[in-house]
Formats: sequence, structure tokens, C-alpha cells
Amino acid sequence: MGRIIKVSGPLIVAEGMAESKMYDVVRVGKDRLIGEIIELRDDKASIQVYEETAGIGPGDEVFSTNEPLSVELGPGLIGSIYDGIQRPLDALLKKSGDRIERGVSVRALDDKKKWNFVATVKEGDKVTEGDELGFVQENPIVRHSIMVPVGFRGVVSQIANGNYTIDDVIAKIKTDKEEKNITMVQKCAVRKGRPYKEKLSPYQPMITGQRVIDTFFPIAKGGVAAVPGPFGSGKTVVQHQLAKWADADIIVYVGCGERGNEMTDVLNEFPNLKDPRTGQSLMQRTVLIANTSDMPVAAREASIYTGITIAEYFRDMGYGVAIMADSTSRWAEALREMSGRLEEMPGEEGYPAYLSSRLAEFYERAGMARVLGSKNKVGSISAIGAVSPPGGDLSEPVSQATLRIVKVFWGLSAQLAYSRHFPAVDWLISYSLYQDKLKDWYGESISPDWVNLVIRAMSILQEEASLNEIVRLVGVDALSSKDRLTMDTAKSIREDYLHQNAFHEVDTYASLNKQYRMLKLIILANDLGKKALEDGIDINDILSLSVKEKIGRSKYIEEKNLAEFDKIEEEFKAQISSLNI
Ligand code: ADP
Ligand code: MG
Repeated sequence: MGRIIKVSGPLIVAEGMAESKMYDVVRVGKDRLIGEIIELRDDKASIQVYEETAGIGPGDEVFSTNEPLSVELGPGLIGSIYDGIQRPLDALLKKSGDRIERGVSVRALDDKKKWNFVATVKEGDKVTEGDELGFVQENPIVRHSIMVPVGFRGVVSQIANGNYTIDDVIAKIKTDKEEKNITMVQKCAVRKGRPYKEKLSPYQPMITGQRVIDTFFPIAKGGVAAVPGPFGSGKTVVQHQLAKWADADIIVYVGCGERGNEMTDVLNEFPNLKDPRTGQSLMQRTVLIANTSDMPVAAREASIYTGITIAEYFRDMGYGVAIMADSTSRWAEALREMSGRLEEMPGEEGYPAYLSSRLAEFYERAGMARVLGSKNKVGSISAIGAVSPPGGDLSEPVSQATLRIVKVFWGLSAQLAYSRHFPAVDWLISYSLYQDKLKDWYGESISPDWVNLVIRAMSILQEEASLNEIVRLVGVDALSSKDRLTMDTAKSIREDYLHQNAFHEVDTYASLNKQYRMLKLIILANDLGKKALEDGIDINDILSLSVKEKIGRSKYIEEKNLAEFDKIEEEFKAQISSLNI
């Protein structure tokens, strides 16, 4: 037991802590507030406390639990809403009323509920870490694999079948030395990644249904992406769209220090949203971690570790997991605050020197991996972090450190947002380093001419940018007919294609097939226009074809009616060939 010698906001220093280890969880004061040791010098421990420290003072007791900060992993995770240290928010509120009381321990998983455990091994089978012993059908969508915990191997000496709580023994494994009881719950420290066999190179896109992403700046399954943008540019909407629509098996959404009402939006909205693939509520594949700006800063720091550890657990079952963190800047600010209170040597803009390495450690836990176990299972974690640079200035430390790590950059522009072009992903600065790797996949799965269409559309947008310069200098009249056509096509790509309304029933999601049909239509219109120009037709006639309005509305064509695109193509061909010289 130690005693507090100093309190500085969420940081306390205690002496008499020589027995403790770094990252041990401690309980502080008579309220038994939950904290974690983040620095140890001799017998003095610096402890970040996950709860309000008002009323705590020198002389108060500190107990070490001798356990690192951990999460509980097992059936019941899906659909849960946790705070940054995996306390279930609803149970917390139920236990302590409107305001969360301090020092309240609530188990992360319901230990009363019985789950139907279905064994997939039998007595006498040899098993090793990561192997499945059986599963629980957690809901109609998620088959929750109960795995041999890390560090175990041996022979199954007993295996159950039927209804059990997470704490009941469902298997016994005989190792060289002893017989081990296995339950459906594992504890796992959050600060270190869960082990896997090997990292694999991502080769498959994570489809998001967002045209600017899937078409121009795709993220791979197991990829890492950042969405930087100033306030109001649409970071949260992008993150929500991905959480709703990305073709991942499991979503872990970490609301990390953003305004309280944004998280409330998620909490209210997600349970009512239907997963397009399964028709079930989106919560049936989602774990939410909510740490709003009014919750203690240290818990915010922990929340991304809690999130990624849960993501790893589902990866280890062989699932494709996507984790969103909104926003990593708020997380970095929490880190900065703790570092300041520790009186560490500040780096750039007061952030600690280890900011980059901490960020890298987080993103490195994403990826596609061959996971533990004797079956050849592959799982992936795709990580998408929002970054909110003050004033949108990407030269600040968090943006810079993030950009050095991630492979996809969706740069949101204040100007686009201001002109209501959403998603405000700036196509001139954004990039995806996966594009090349995913080329084959798109070619085979969508169409052989996909890549070509994408390259052409992007070059038209780039041409527009340089034509805009000319227009600015000498006016639109200086443009040739050919350039005017290019400008018109670029406008169509921007407004008819890239602009996508997250709040429109149909437009909110576009399948790759629809994206392909839309893009093909726009490029076809461009090519037929060009040909007509060469045949001597007046550009004004080409630009005022009535069918163009249908191209503009093609984003509202429902997925089941994609044959409409054939009709619009035919109509375009007919109208343009009816023009006279
Ligand atoms: P940020 O998180 O960057 O501060 P938000 O994600 O909250 O910004 O977006 C701000 C507003 O921009 C939203 O409330 C919404 O009105 C608008 N918006 C952003 N993206 C879209 C979109 N794809 N479709 C329609 N509106 C959008
Ligand atoms: Mg936001």
C-alpha cells in the first residue's frame, strides 16, 4: 500500500509503491478510484486516474491490484457501449443514477447471462493457443469463437456443451504440468498487442459505399487511414458512414473526446440502423467506446487501447474488423496533458517526444494477419483515425506524425465543406498507397476497364485544376471548345459523382457496381462529346443536351435498378447523334 504525496488534476504521485510495476492498475483513496501507473521512480509512482480526483489529497491510500490495465473478452461484447476503461455505460448509469459515481466497478461482461456454448472439439483433441474450442452464437450475425487462451497448449480433457455463463468452466486442457480450466472469458492487457503468427500484405479493398473513397482513395482490408480536417469539415460523418457501411464483420467505434452530442448521435442512431448485408441492427456487429470531452482526460487516453484490444480479439477469430477513432487529436491532447503534469521535457507544441511512437504503436496493431491456432485463419483490422488539426493546419505535430504512418490520407478541405461539397475529401491532396495493390482486385471483381476509368476521371479533375488557373487569369472565353468540355465533365465528376449525401436514403451508399456504372456513364458522355466536337458540332449544343440532367440524377438510382444506366447511355447516344453541324 502506498500513500499520496501529490495531486495534480488527473495525475497523482504516491510513495511506498516499490512493489508495483509499470502499467499496474491501482485503486486510489477511500472511493477506490481507478488509476494506472504511468511512471515509476524508486518507490514513487505517478498514476493517471480515470476518474475525477476532486477530494483526493496527500496521505490518502493507494492500493496496487498488481494487474495491468486489461479488458475482458468474451460473449456479450457485441452491442456493448463502454467508457474508456471498458466499464459498460448503461450498467454504470443504472448503478449510480444520472451521474456516474466514482470508484464504481462494474464488470464489462454480463456474468449472469447464460450462453449456448457449442463445442467444436472433443475430448482427446490436441489444441494450441488460438484454436477454437467451440462457439457461442452471440446474435444472428456474430458467431463468437471461444478460443484457447494465449500461452496454452495441450489435450482437451473435458469439454462442455450447453448453456453456461462466462465464468463457468466449459473445457479443461491438460498441459505438460497441469490441468487448466477454461471459461468463456479472457482477460487481456491493453497496452500490448495480442500475438499473431505473421502480418500479411493487404490485397482486398474494404468497400465503404462512399464513392470518393472506393473509387479514388481506397483503403485495404487491414489498411490504415487518416481523415484530417478542420472543425466542421465532415470527419465525424465520414467515420459514421464507414461504421455504418464498411464491409467489415465487426466494427469497433471509439468516440474519443469529441463533443458529447456527437457520441449521443451514434448511441441513438446505430441501434436503429440496419446493416445492408444482413438486414439486422448495426449494433449487432458493433462495439462502442464512448469518451466524450466532458469525461476524464486519462480515460480518453486509455480508450483507443481498449478499442484496439477488442478489435484484435475479433481479428483472432478470423474476422475482418474495422476500428474508427474520432478523434486521435483529442487522444494526443490527453497524452500531452499527462506528459505536462509529469513535467516531462516537452517536444513540439508541448506534445511529448514519444507522440509519434505512441501513434505508430496504435496503427501498427492494425493490419492483415495470419492469426494464432493450428487452422490457417486470417483476420484483419482496418484502422481509420480522424485528426482535428487546429485551424486545419496539417503542419502541426499530430497530423505530421499520423501522415508518416498511415497509407491512406483523406484530406478534408474547409473550402469544399463551405461550398457544401460533401464528403469534403480534397481529390487534389488525398492519396491511397493501396491503390496499386488493389488494381487487380478491382479489375477482376468489377470490370477490366475500372482502373482505366478511374485514371481518366482523376486526370480530368487535375486538368480542371490547371484550367481553373487559366480561367482566373484570362476568363472563361479564352477556353477552347475541347477545354470547355473537359471543364464540364470535371464538374459532372465533382457534382454528380463525388458529391454524396450521407443523409439521403439512396445516395448514402453506392455499391461498386453502381459506382462503376456511374463513372462509366460520365466518361462515356465525355468521349461522345469529344467525338461530336471533332465532327464539327457546337460545344453549346453538346453541353445543353437534356439527357445530361439524367446523369446528374443517376446517383439516386436504386441498387436494384442498375439497368437504368443502359437506358441513359442509349438516350445519350441517341441525343448526341441527332445534333446537326
Ligand atoms: P467534423 O467532425 O469534421 O467537425 P462533422 O462530421 O460533424 O464535422 O460534419 C459537419 C457537418 O457537415 C455535418 O453536420 C453535416 O451537416 C455536413 N456533412 C458532412 N459530411 C456530409 C455528407 N457526406 N453529406 C451531407 N452532409 C455532410
Ligand atoms: Mg467531429
